[in-house]
Amino acid sequence: MTHEKTAESVTRRSLLAGIGALTLLSSSPAFAQANDPISIVATTGMIADAARRLGEDLVSVRALMGAGVDPHAYRQTRSDIVAMTRADLVLWHGLYLEAQMERFFEDLSGKGRVVPVAEGLPRDALLSHEDYAGRYDPHVWMDPLLWREVVSAVATEMNALRPDHAAVFLANADAYLTELDDLAEYAASSLSKVPEKKRVLLTAHDAFSYFGKAYGFDVIGIQGISTESEAGLNRISELVDVLVARDIGAVFVETSVSDRNMRALIEGAAAQGHNVFIGGALFSDAMGPEGTYEGTYLGMIDHNVTTIARALGADVPEGGRLGKLSAGS
Ligand code: ZN
Repeated sequence: MTHEKTAESVTRRSLLAGIGALTLLSSSPAFAQANDPISIVATTGMIADAARRLGEDLVSVRALMGAGVDPHAYRQTRSDIVAMTRADLVLWHGLYLEAQMERFFEDLSGKGRVVPVAEGLPRDALLSHEDYAGRYDPHVWMDPLLWREVVSAVATEMNALRPDHAAVFLANADAYLTELDDLAEYAASSLSKVPEKKRVLLTAHDAFSYFGKAYGFDVIGIQGISTESEAGLNRISELVDVLVARDIGAVFVETSVSDRNMRALIEGAAAQGHNVFIGGALFSDAMGPEGTYEGTYLGMIDHNVTTIARALGADVPEGGRLGKLSAGS
């Protein structure tokens, strides 16, 4: 249904563009504003997904970072710069997630609407980290109830840009926020089925602190908050001891981070006679491939919650909250 609608409006737009070229109507700014989709560039897939859900076919959204891309390390390309310069709205995360692009955004912010959407979160909702002095943990999408604040911030920016469409944006925001609430409920109930002593989440980097806080899990990352910090041999052997001492049976790799450290950890544990299996690959800082359920925010979190719950012994359906997860995803 959504696809049909999009295809239809694209056809209508190209038709109008053709007429415009003939009649020079397209040179009128009023015509362009009324008929062109609002062009939005977002850094992460999660932010782009929110803008698409709120704007539907009123917006054309480009995400700079696709599946498997690490935002801590990402640098803007030439074509990103062109897209951001031309966009009606540029949405970035902030909280130092896009560490390599921060200076670029400072320069760009004078030239139109360039908004760090997570920066507006109340400071008492944010977590800090001992290795990350003076900064907050940026991985707020890991808690759907925190992410809903960011979605609301996206809606506010879109309303301010195009008040003529505010009714649509607000209705879509309402529906989407309700889905986020449902997702949060599914996460809480699924994860509460994990036996208490197994509620330890060991991953490649420290992306899951908000998840841990929301659902009562201890989280341990081999690397720190940013993937830019290297994990030394000391860190690996320290974690082997933790695995053995806490009798942790499953660890998790991440789709946007190399699994090199995790393999070293598993081998180190095996050398001490403690066998650990990989409980699955989690979407930490990037969603799944575009066009799949896991390539949406709802699917990303459903996948993570379902994978973690099942690997740690909870009885939850393999297909996840809506039965939409692909087998073995
Ligand atoms: Zn991260």
